[in-house]
Amino acid sequence: MKAFFDPRQLGHNPEIYYRGGAPMEHPEQAERAILIRDMLLENDFPVEAPADYGTAPIKAVHDPDYVDFFKDAHTRFIAEAPEGALGIPTRQPGSRRGRLPRDINGAMGWWMTDTSTPLTPDTYEAIYWSAQTAVAAAEEVASGARAAYGLSRPPGHHAMRDCANGFCFYNNACIAAEHLRNTWQKVALLDIDVHTGNGSMDILYARPDIFFCSLHPDPAVYPTFYLGYPDETGEGEGLGMTRNEVLQIGDGEQEVLAALERGIGAIEDFGAQALVVSLGLDMATDDPLAAVNVHAGGFAQMARRIAAMNLPTVLIQEGGYLGPSLKKNAESFLTSFRKAIGEAP
Ligand SMILES: [Zn+2]
Repeated sequence: MKAFFDPRQLGHNPEIYYRGGAPMEHPEQAERAILIRDMLLENDFPVEAPADYGTAPIKAVHDPDYVDFFKDAHTRFIAEAPEGALGIPTRQPGSRRGRLPRDINGAMGWWMTDTSTPLTPDTYEAIYWSAQTAVAAAEEVASGARAAYGLSRPPGHHAMRDCANGFCFYNNACIAAEHLRNTWQKVALLDIDVHTGNGSMDILYARPDIFFCSLHPDPAVYPTFYLGYPDETGEGEGLGMTRNEVLQIGDGEQEVLAALERGIGAIEDFGAQALVVSLGLDMATDDPLAAVNVHAGGFAQMARRIAAMNLPTVLIQEGGYLGPSLKKNAESFLTSFRKAIGEAP
């Protein structure tokens, strides 16, 4: 199983994150990807740099103006910013009524809905190559590989059609799923990151051709809030094509695996021909953003169960932060998955 990664993804350098109003070190650090890349090399996964597929695959799931905004957003911001300013929005439009302002601070509030996606000098390059990594992994599978892994960083599953939030800018998993649609009629996106795939849900909500299932704690009490309730099942032609498997904070592996089983059942009922997995590792019991309690052995069980779906599968990295077991959990999932699909290192 090939892995894809481009070191330019390391350039995004968010410093401060506000949690409950308090500034803290930003959890979405480049070191996450370095740890996982090193684990891949130690376990003899071939790690390749992605080709450059351009912005077309990104614009296939996002508002094209949103995609282009990030090309020079930091340059525009810094040209006017006071000393020491963070590249975060300080205004919000509330409802999306109104018009996109020419002013950069107004535009940042239009396209970014929280303070967790600060613009830094190399943010655009990082998010661009994170998306290319996802396309490359999807292309590998579309070309006949049983599976591929995209070490996308920054992550993507919170990015909506036209706004960034939750550390995410471009929705790498949706970009991969859309790319698979060039080859297969019915694709599923299974999100096992601990947070709701609210961006993926936004992008896919009316789609009849890409089934979306997310596992996450109750959005009434756990970020990213707002979306992810069981009665949200899609709309229009996509009615019935969204499934939210709601966990409780503190749930253990038994509850998580039962939810996974229900989600997989729904994906199989849909008749998916290919699969994208939003592979967050922040269900880990010692993740800094922990809400449920999965250990390395639980990640291995999840990997084996997903592999047993026997579908062409693209694994896209989402969350999973700098807790003590991040590297071990990534290793447990990916080596178990590789073994389960019968590929020796
Ligand atoms: Zn997450």
